[in-house]
Amino acid sequence: MDPSEDSAFDQYRASVDKPLARLFRTYGRPEWRWFALGMVMNVLARTSSLLPPLVLGAAIDSVFTGNAAFVLPGVPAAWLPNTDAAEFWFSVQVIVGSFVATGVFTWVYGVAANTFAHRVMHAVRTDSFERMQRLDMTFFDDKQTGEVMSILNNDASNLEVFLDNALQNSARLVVMVLGIAAIMVWLNAQLALVTLVVVPGMFLFTLWFMRAVEPRYVEQRSTIGKLNTRLENSLSGIELVKSTGTEDYETSRVRDASYRYYQDTMAVLKLNYFYRPGMELLAGLAFAVTFIVGGLWIFSGAPWFFSGSLSPGAFVTFIFLTQRLVTPLAEVSNIVDQYENAKASSERVFGLMDIPVRVQDEPDATELDAVEGRVEYDDVTFAYDSEPGDGDSETVVENVDFEADPGETVALVGPTGAGKSTLVKLLLRLYEVNEGAVRVDGHDVRDVTLDSLRGAIGYVGQDTFLFDGTIADNIRYGNFDATDDEVVAAAKAAEAHTFIEDLSDGYETRVGERGVKLSGGQRQRISIARTVLQDPAILVLDEATSAVDTETELAIQRSLDELARDRTTLAIAHRLSTVTDADQILVVKAGRIVERGTHDELLQQDGLYAALWQAQTGDRDALEAELTDG
Ligand code: ADP
Repeated sequence: MDPSEDSAFDQYRASVDKPLARLFRTYGRPEWRWFALGMVMNVLARTSSLLPPLVLGAAIDSVFTGNAAFVLPGVPAAWLPNTDAAEFWFSVQVIVGSFVATGVFTWVYGVAANTFAHRVMHAVRTDSFERMQRLDMTFFDDKQTGEVMSILNNDASNLEVFLDNALQNSARLVVMVLGIAAIMVWLNAQLALVTLVVVPGMFLFTLWFMRAVEPRYVEQRSTIGKLNTRLENSLSGIELVKSTGTEDYETSRVRDASYRYYQDTMAVLKLNYFYRPGMELLAGLAFAVTFIVGGLWIFSGAPWFFSGSLSPGAFVTFIFLTQRLVTPLAEVSNIVDQYENAKASSERVFGLMDIPVRVQDEPDATELDAVEGRVEYDDVTFAYDSEPGDGDSETVVENVDFEADPGETVALVGPTGAGKSTLVKLLLRLYEVNEGAVRVDGHDVRDVTLDSLRGAIGYVGQDTFLFDGTIADNIRYGNFDATDDEVVAAAKAAEAHTFIEDLSDGYETRVGERGVKLSGGQRQRISIARTVLQDPAILVLDEATSAVDTETELAIQRSLDELARDRTTLAIAHRLSTVTDADQILVVKAGRIVERGTHDELLQQDGLYAALWQAQTGDRDALEAELTDG
């Protein structure tokens, strides 16, 4: 895969510092109460779950074998009962009580931990989408939607799992290991040493695993991003794929990307195969050794170098607690998994958030209001440049200089790739000029807010996107406050009313991804209605090159003419017949304006425009000559 494909992301990802700390600082802090409640309840639940084995041991020694007093750590003897029956029923109460308490604490803890995790993730998702959306077009030109989707989906769920489970599981781990160790030491310090000697071994083993697995996780995360990009790309180009019969080729590309992901996943799993059973083995070892040493101790007195006594009750408590040790410690690998995943994921989330927005409101930007519609290009030069300073940019617009008075129509004509679309994008400030300035009513577009600038400009482009929703919703995208009557009036002005009325649910018909499919001409008319409703002072038209029937074309042309009547209009035209009435025609070639004037003036100049005109009205030779001579 092209190594430059993920450069924009990797660069910012690499410079994210302590991503998880940042996650807590930025998004965890407002929810700290839920977090704290969850932690406290978690600790209480785990602690109360340690009581039954402890009480069971005490009861065995005092009630059943009957040769010791009923004792519990930290509880004064005066508080405890001293007859067998009372001790028995007391034990029953404590055991039942602690099960109930564990249940209640676990329930509250679950609610608190889930609430914390999901509230944080809601904020992260919304925030990262909001920032991503504001990135300038340069970012989206690189077609990184697949990777962005993977960040907003996969990485967000990784973080969710981490916040929800891993954090609480590590708290449980700490409580269990420390609590169990304390009880064991209190019961029999020597045997405790035998049981617990594996614990540091487990931690060291885990440390090794974390070091080894981290780089593999980073790889894995990046390949899933690439796989998603591949899938997304092949799907959005499905029409091309089908029409060129390249299904097999696309399948093989997806197979390659998927295989790479498979390999990276297996690389992670290979370490897991080693780590998980290793942990189980160590835990099993602790259990076996405790059983052997404790068992020998009970029926033949302190073995080998051990000394002192071990009661059967203490031994039972030990065995129960040793088993309790296995689960949380074996969880360590899950916690590590989730931690590593979350670290990589939060790096990606913040990497996305840290991509600088190159086109944004200046701190002192003013609102552009009561727009008259004077448009001015003052010696504008521009080059696409995906990354600042990577040097492979080529000037697309060079020293372009023109003015349109309010209400005037300026047509841009010229060969494909000449830079016409780029020119109008500079007016919308989708990109920033390199030299010169674009002005609206005398204000540099960089000095006004993007919202007010773009609100003042209506854009009817080549392909018309319809959102999933009703026709009325789609028209209202031009002005969310419009009444139903205004929507209908706009549709009438766009000559869309008749075909809309003919649809099954009229204006309430669903369109877009999951709705009815409209023809190119119909979509375009909806987009014109949208712009009518927006009522902008300035209009940008990028004439559709796709063929529509003559009748539709005439209807569209009529409504566009109507729309353009009192507005300053920049129209990119492919069919010169549509611009013969323009106040000014600019002929663009290789980024420069090579001719300008009205239709008649340009015909008289007998240059590129005249040649284009002749070609469209029948004679192609003059055009070939014009295009090849310079
Ligand atoms: P026109 O509208 O006249 O057909 P464009 O403005 O679309 O021309 O394109 C002008 C030049 O800029 C072309 O060489 C094109 O390859 C290049 N170009 C257009 N869009 C981008 C982009 N997003 N990134 C890099 N280069 C681009």
